[in-house]
Amino acid sequence: MRALVKARADVGLDFDADRPPPTGSTGTPGEPGPREVLIKVRKAGVCGTDRHIWEWDAWASSRIPVGIVTGHEFAGVVEKVGAAVTRVSPGQRVSGEGHITDFLDYNSRTGNAHIASDTRIIGVDRDGCFADYLLLPEENVWPLHPDIPDRYGAIMDPLGNAVHTVMSAGVSAKTVLVTGAGIIGLMAITVAKAAGAARVYATDTNPHRLELARKLGAFRAFNPIEHGNAVPIPTHWAQSGEGRPRSFPLPPPPGGTAPSEGAPKSSPPVGAEVPAWIDQIRSETRGDGVDVLLEMSGAPPAIDQGFQALRMGGTAALLGIPASPPNFDLTNHVIFKGATVLGINGRRMWETWYQMENLLLSGRLELDDIITHELPLEDYARAFELMQSGEGIKIVLGVNE
Ligand SMILES: [Zn+2]
Repeated sequence: MRALVKARADVGLDFDADRPPPTGSTGTPGEPGPREVLIKVRKAGVCGTDRHIWEWDAWASSRIPVGIVTGHEFAGVVEKVGAAVTRVSPGQRVSGEGHITDFLDYNSRTGNAHIASDTRIIGVDRDGCFADYLLLPEENVWPLHPDIPDRYGAIMDPLGNAVHTVMSAGVSAKTVLVTGAGIIGLMAITVAKAAGAARVYATDTNPHRLELARKLGAFRAFNPIEHGNAVPIPTHWAQSGEGRPRSFPLPPPPGGTAPSEGAPKSSPPVGAEVPAWIDQIRSETRGDGVDVLLEMSGAPPAIDQGFQALRMGGTAALLGIPASPPNFDLTNHVIFKGATVLGINGRRMWETWYQMENLLLSGRLELDDIITHELPLEDYARAFELMQSGEGIKIVLGVNE
């Protein structure tokens, strides 16, 4: 079969026109074990993770076994099923969860299989879907509703990240800030709108992505570099920490000059500055800041500013992964703020998948502007070029169409 293989510990991927089909528990290529499913891949999404693997950065070289077939986002058709498979049959259109677990550890057994300790990821730890055929355990196969086209089925993995983030934070009737309008950030904007967010703000440093964010329904999309001209925090804000504005004057501290009860001890000094875009968000949210932060960039300044823009008692859901441990003001951003912070990893099995199906069938998700390019599998090098140049956002490869 054809496959994109990480054949060398170096930049790039190799096209193998004659790779044997995947081998499951039977030990015979192309033969699924009793509870395995062989899938003929129709379309496959190219992910930021694939770009790391292509570029062979520190993370990729420490994690990816050389020789692996890459790719983890797909839609396809069931080709063959093992003898004990009951839920799917040959000819059925499917997508699938790429995080594989034996469902035996504590988290799997308590409803949190998405963070199972034995998780192995297709295209990362074992052979993936940039190939004619992919082998998955039956549990991981998601039957595609007839009204959900392959091109959406092929991006349910990243869409699931966005849906899991948005649904975990809870956005209905709330103001939301999405920091980082990349693939998943843009998806989070349309998902948040579909899930009833009142107003969605977005930030990114790429003008094309900001334009897309607005097109997908962001109320405002800021470039924090262009809109970062700091404005002084008014004196009465600085007293409450984080530059939080208040609509009423603080009571005079008892006994003179001591800080009032509960006031953060490390309040920004009077005259400290916040970026102009955060000032604008505050001015449009009663002076409080947004109810919800969805952090999609992993960039330390974006994380820092996102928390500055979050209101006291707000909720932050963090999906973006910093390249190295960031310098983070835990005291003011989380403790004194009384913030709820959620780490988001993968997608819930299978709650997120049911939510995705419902959202896709609602017709309220706008994904067509996010999928900027569809290319045949053989043009994979161009797909990575488009990602690296920033011209492409989500790129879907046609494998067997
Ligand atoms: Zn992905």
